[in-house]
Amino acid sequence: MTIESNSSRIYYTKPSITELEIRYANDAVTNGWGEQCYDYIYRFERQFAQYLGVRHAIATSSATGALHMGLAGLGIGPGDEVILADINWIASAAPIIYVGATPVLVDILADTWCLDPAAVEAAITPRTKAVLAVHLYGNLCDMDALSVITQKHGIYLIEDAAEAIGSAWHGKRAGSMGIFGAFSFHGTKTLTTGEGGIFITNDDALYERALTLSNHGRARDEARQFWPESIGFKYKMSNVQAAIGCAQLERVDELVAGKRRVFEAYRGALAGLPVSMNPEPPNTVNGYWMPTIVVDEAVPFDRETLLAAFSACNIDGRVFFWPLSSLEMFRSEPQNSISYSLSSRAINLPSYQDLDNADMERVSICVHSVLGDIP
Ligand SMILES: *Cc1c(COP(=O)(O)O)cnc(C)c1O
Repeated sequence: MTIESNSSRIYYTKPSITELEIRYANDAVTNGWGEQCYDYIYRFERQFAQYLGVRHAIATSSATGALHMGLAGLGIGPGDEVILADINWIASAAPIIYVGATPVLVDILADTWCLDPAAVEAAITPRTKAVLAVHLYGNLCDMDALSVITQKHGIYLIEDAAEAIGSAWHGKRAGSMGIFGAFSFHGTKTLTTGEGGIFITNDDALYERALTLSNHGRARDEARQFWPESIGFKYKMSNVQAAIGCAQLERVDELVAGKRRVFEAYRGALAGLPVSMNPEPPNTVNGYWMPTIVVDEAVPFDRETLLAAFSACNIDGRVFFWPLSSLEMFRSEPQNSISYSLSSRAINLPSYQDLDNADMERVSICVHSVLGDIP
């Protein structure tokens, strides 16, 4: 086994940019001003809504902004609680705090790494206003169970689908099933605009409220110039970003197929090791944003050893998210034992669409060098 420390660096992610993105971005920066200054934004919103099969979309500067606007549009605020999984990137929880509500962190299922519906139901109180279903690394929450629970208790089901473009639950695309959904187009995501996001909904009234909020509180039928009716937000996507997004969206099937190709290659190469990877239960499609290995609980494993091996091979290793409740800003929830156990046993593998077979073999050899020796 060779440690190829002087071979080129394998990044954990990087965008797939073609002539098309460059042409559209060039057009936007050259011509997308004055009368044309919203053309790519409207086109991106229209085409994204179409792709997802929803009625409305508002392009934003980030998923964080889309979530903030959506929560505000639903009237969620001080005294309210929003339930989400303990294992998450902080961007899912921060907007709950921005509106003055309280995030309630519950445990996950060991196989999907997403919300445990039984834990959700147990955490519901009279103050609970919503459940935020985050589809982690492309894996899907159990949307049937969560729909039943949220309907029974008369609370909202919201989707953070920032990591789940290309994922589908029983024929419905991730992000299209909740009262609203949010996506991110950050540079690390499957479809990117550098920074960016989108708010989507089928609810006409919520769309109108979010649209007004997104325009610094100015309603679209307001005749007076510069007349806000409320304090809103400024989370807009720029036309140049939207131009890149339009090109990426034309290539979305190819971008998702690229992620799936990388996942399948790793799955084949790592078969036989004591690890599990992102699940794809019957009737679902996983967009596999981040191919991830979770080392079996019975196996002694220190993720620092694997990260050090990656580093020696000039490969980016990326740790699984920490339980949010292990961070200082949140109340400690040590009873979320699956979240704590999983986080320490899991690593995301490099997964950009242009990874070639030799790169993936280098990664697999490195994983084998650490885990293959374990009996
Ligand atoms: C990336 C990400 C976000 C944040 O997206 P930004 O566009 O950076 O605000 C939110 N939620 C999840 C699940 C993410 O992966």
